[in-house]
Amino acid sequence: MHEAHGFSTRAIHAGQEPDPLTGAVVPPIYATSTYKQDGVGGLRGGYEYSRSGNPTRTALETCLASIEGGARGFAFASGLAAEDTVLRALLKPGDHVIIPNDAYGGTFRLFDKVAARWGLRYTAAPITDLDAVAQSLDQGTRMIWVETPTNPLLNIADIAELAALAHQNDAILVVDNTFASPYLQQPLALGADVVVHSTTKYLGGHSDVVGGAVVVDDEVLAEPIAFHHNSMGAVAGPFDAWLTLRGIKTLAARMDRHCDNAEAIAEFLAGHDAVAEVRYPGLSTHPGHDVAGKQMKRYGGMISFRHKHGEEAAVEMCSRTEVFTLGESLGGVESLIEHPGRMTHASVAGSALEVPSDLVRLSVGIEDPGDLLADLRQALGS
Ligand SMILES: *Cc1c(COP(=O)(O)O)cnc(C)c1O
Repeated sequence: MHEAHGFSTRAIHAGQEPDPLTGAVVPPIYATSTYKQDGVGGLRGGYEYSRSGNPTRTALETCLASIEGGARGFAFASGLAAEDTVLRALLKPGDHVIIPNDAYGGTFRLFDKVAARWGLRYTAAPITDLDAVAQSLDQGTRMIWVETPTNPLLNIADIAELAALAHQNDAILVVDNTFASPYLQQPLALGADVVVHSTTKYLGGHSDVVGGAVVVDDEVLAEPIAFHHNSMGAVAGPFDAWLTLRGIKTLAARMDRHCDNAEAIAEFLAGHDAVAEVRYPGLSTHPGHDVAGKQMKRYGGMISFRHKHGEEAAVEMCSRTEVFTLGESLGGVESLIEHPGRMTHASVAGSALEVPSDLVRLSVGIEDPGDLLADLRQALGS
């Protein structure tokens, strides 16, 4: 697959040449832990043991690198396993990291409860505010970590500006690209050094597999990540890799539909009496609208809004929807609704990352938009 091919062509074909033995169009699930050697050290395809490498995982890793515009991709057992490996591979105890003050709850927990015990220092800063991020730098800052759009407040970080700031200070920029997906946003091209994903979300896209990914364009970064990927061993299994590849083939088509539906819903919510504030980067009222327009192809499928009648009304509404399923996670074809304060973000209650108690988060799926709008209308009670 050539770099000059379009996004969908690469998503469907990169790393997925028809099987040379049988012509199978889809890469097989290589359910094997080990590989026969032709004499000691005589590896047939470079494979010796499936923690170190597996052909189904290689297909996924090649595809991930291609669609993120990077040189190397790595597939992990989960998004958090990918994040943990990036921290251990690229940092050492005593180093300092700047993280968003509204990071995904699990990312915050990884820094606060796991990496901190290992000796990593962090500061949570508002990543929409470049001056505040600059003020959080210290002598030991080696990494700026951002999500954009953020979860659950859909704040927008300026990737190019943050990359420049990191590089002026001998640090690297890591972008969690889970919410946008590589179809809508290409952080490496904007200057980021490392992209991480929870492939559980839009890349897998069907709520049927948990996985993570890391993509880099620089061999100097790829080498320690490859070493830790194998040494820590949090690799994607072949069946999970296959499901994720299957999802990626339709990423562009799904994302366009997620965006169409989310745009319609954001407009509807913005005009509704029971809604106090809508957080969707596609609305011109969103404070990050211009930056999002500069670095994203479209604005994504995630929407948060504040219920005008407070926490109880927000919680009750989440139980009243019929097409939107009440549940955690996001990025699948089916629409989901949740209350971050009591669900995905309960672990950050009382911390600097606490979210408004009247906040409702939607992962807008690709069902018929009329059904989604009618469901929200009835759940909001009008
Ligand atoms: C879900 C998520 C993660 C964690 O990924 P897992 O696959 O659940 O380990 C990290 N970042 C963001 C933005 C997420 O939404």
